[in-house]
Amino acid sequence: MNPAPTLSRVVALLEARYPPSTAEDWDAVGLVTGDPAAPVRKVLFAVDPVAAVVDEAVVWGADLLVTHHPLLLRGVHSVAAGTLKGQPVHTLITSGCALFAAHTNADAAVRGVAEALADVLGLVETSPLEPTPGAGPGVGLGRVGRLGVPTTLGAFAELVAAALPETAQGIRVAGDLDAQVSTVAVLGGSGDSLLGAARASGADVYVTSDLKHHAVSDAREQAALDAVAAGRPARDGRPFLVDTAHFASEWPWLAYAAADLVHDLAADGTTVETRVSTVRTDPWTARVARAEV
Ligand SMILES: [Zn+2]
Repeated sequence: MNPAPTLSRVVALLEARYPPSTAEDWDAVGLVTGDPAAPVRKVLFAVDPVAAVVDEAVVWGADLLVTHHPLLLRGVHSVAAGTLKGQPVHTLITSGCALFAAHTNADAAVRGVAEALADVLGLVETSPLEPTPGAGPGVGLGRVGRLGVPTTLGAFAELVAAALPETAQGIRVAGDLDAQVSTVAVLGGSGDSLLGAARASGADVYVTSDLKHHAVSDAREQAALDAVAAGRPARDGRPFLVDTAHFASEWPWLAYAAADLVHDLAADGTTVETRVSTVRTDPWTARVARAEV
């Protein structure tokens, strides 16, 4: 059995994969709790540092919880037990579990959130939708690529549903289900800010999360105008939109992060046991359709 690495070494390797310098200015990434000198034997990976995930880490005996979303994104004045942010901090510290967040730096990374999403959807020849200025090749927000085999929008949406964790929301689609699609843009998490980049990329369909009424309405109106200007029917306006639960579109990255950490530690001759959380942290719990009469 290889020796366990220290937390500081694990953090150094995670930050080499997900450099804090590539995080957005408003973001708060890195180590939240934990003793850098402590040994790390078990690492749990999850999207959200919510109570159910913290409990999962503690019950399993994790020394480190790596999450995509930061626990402490905005300023807090208290981390008292029983408070929204303080309770998980207390539970983690008293249980000897460190917490590390890789957020927008993981979004942009090679083998990061966007790339993992593109891969599980079967995209090939991918490149960043919005390259990060000054960063290396392949680093940037979102990915755009093509499907190995073109298909219909409806069949593609079913592929998305099958590839991601099931959520109450399911998969929402804006567009003609019978239209053929071959190029796909993706962005894990909230993606309305890259609707323009998805349009500019020429993608047939854009897969992301948290799309709201006005953003979708405007994007579809614009797509219809673009189609007519190009001599095609308005209903063929692209990109079509596919909206997933936020948690679901980011979850595929966890397996990459776990495998890459084990790979990177092997060069040191150390190892950790990893686990990807299967707690569904999408906060929505049900969807009710109007009953047929
Ligand atoms: Zn997110």
